[in-house]
Amino acid sequence: MTSKIVSIEIYFPCEVEVSNKQMRGIDTVLASICADWEAKHPGRIMWPFGCGAKMLANPLALSDDEPIPFDESVLQFEVAEREAYAGERNFVAAHEWHERFGLTCCRVCGIVQRADGKNKPCKGPMKLRPLEGPLPETDS
Ligand SMILES: [Zn+2]
Repeated sequence: MTSKIVSIEIYFPCEVEVSNKQMRGIDTVLASICADWEAKHPGRIMWPFGCGAKMLANPLALSDDEPIPFDESVLQFEVAEREAYAGERNFVAAHEWHERFGLTCCRVCGIVQRADGKNKPCKGPMKLRPLEGPLPETDS
């Protein structure tokens, strides 16, 4: 089964205990789901953020002296998602377009911008190396 969802709910018919090892197992499954999502969303990262008793109110909506109500009978896992920063996994560098020789080129990698705007992500500064082997044949 593959379908698009935003949460997973599991109800037990009676109270059960979840060991730390089992919690890590659930976390591993969530990390796998996040990794698959990241593969389809370049430039974004998603990760298991935390777990614990279910919070029953938004703490930002409560006053400072009001305790945060929790449902201790519900184990809740949170997953977070955001744009990937430079140097992080799944980071996609954007080209820095500028006009050069009558063409729109990337200031960093030198690639020419496609008319449809569907260039692959910027690969960073182009590196040149000395030519090795015989020179290529020319017509002149
Ligand atoms: Zn570039």
